[in-house]
Amino acid sequence: MNLEHLNALKELLSSSKKIAIIPHKNPDGDAIGSTLALWHYLINGGHNASIVSPNDFPKFLKWMPGADQILNFEKENTQSKSCINNADVIFTLDFNHLGRVGQMSGILESANATFVMIDHHQEPSDYAEIMYSDVTMSSTCEMVYSLLRKLGDTHSITSEMANCIYTGIMTDTGSFKFAATTSNTHRVVAELMDKGAEGTEIHHRIYDTNSPSRLHLLGCALKNMVILQEQQTAYITLSQEELDRYKYQKGDTEGFVNYGLTLDGIRFAVIFIENKEEGILKISFRSVGDFSVNDFARKHFNGGGHTNAAGGKSDDSIEDTILYFTSLLPQYMNQLQS
Ligand code: 5GP
Ligand code: MN
Repeated sequence: MNLEHLNALKELLSSSKKIAIIPHKNPDGDAIGSTLALWHYLINGGHNASIVSPNDFPKFLKWMPGADQILNFEKENTQSKSCINNADVIFTLDFNHLGRVGQMSGILESANATFVMIDHHQEPSDYAEIMYSDVTMSSTCEMVYSLLRKLGDTHSITSEMANCIYTGIMTDTGSFKFAATTSNTHRVVAELMDKGAEGTEIHHRIYDTNSPSRLHLLGCALKNMVILQEQQTAYITLSQEELDRYKYQKGDTEGFVNYGLTLDGIRFAVIFIENKEEGILKISFRSVGDFSVNDFARKHFNGGGHTNAAGGKSDDSIEDTILYFTSLLPQYMNQLQS
């Protein structure tokens, strides 16, 4: 974040403001953790702030301090709209183009507020007057911590905020193991623990919440996995019928895509999940090494993300999407095998 933007933000927050904080659609641990940490900070600083999520978020994140205050745009539509329309300032966190908020994009585009972006994804668009974009960061949560340091305000981090920030760093780094985990990430985590973040408890609340049906769905996903050894690729499909059979709940498929990468020699893993209600397949892409799934998702599946983790969608059936997907692989053989 350059000095001009930092000073503009300081000026903006120097008097009490009406603020809306927005995570991306289908928010994950980083999106919920970062918006909640910022929300606590702004509320404690005397601002009138609310978080408006485009839709619901998984049960394993509902314990987070303040999560019960988050407005769901789909369910609390009138209140959400008035929040956005009346805001002086709108913070958008953990995404960088307005297409990532689904049905909410129109109302954000016409909002009359100063936009502040805090995000670590590649290729940000330019809707925000104040931008803090850093693709080297592990997570938006690590950026919220860095921002508070830039503002000279780390002393105001409460244990609630520390728990929120820790959660987002933990989930976005695969518990501190993905390549974006730096020595700075570990230093931030250490400071968060000093401020009251309860690492073991957070780990337990996020990861030890399996239901029998989720484990059965995982079994189904692993059975469906197709391994293309030559292309060093593994992909999983889950149809709506399979999701229904195993009583799918939001968040149940979190992490399934990563199993492909645990196979020796596999560098590209994908999961295609049917969503009949939205008439799309939601796709997650993961890679190890230099093969950019951000580029792949952007180019072929109307998505994006990071070099090693990205998402996208398809309007076609599972069968047609798989045919299309596998037809693309030959042109990436060099990158996949390098
Ligand atoms: P996931 O596969 O876990 O949903 O997402 C992986 C990464 O890609 C996350 O950082 C997420 O924000 C991003 N992402 C997921 N879906 C999309 C999408 O449809 N468009 C873009 N631009 N990014 C996505
Ligand atoms: Mn993130």
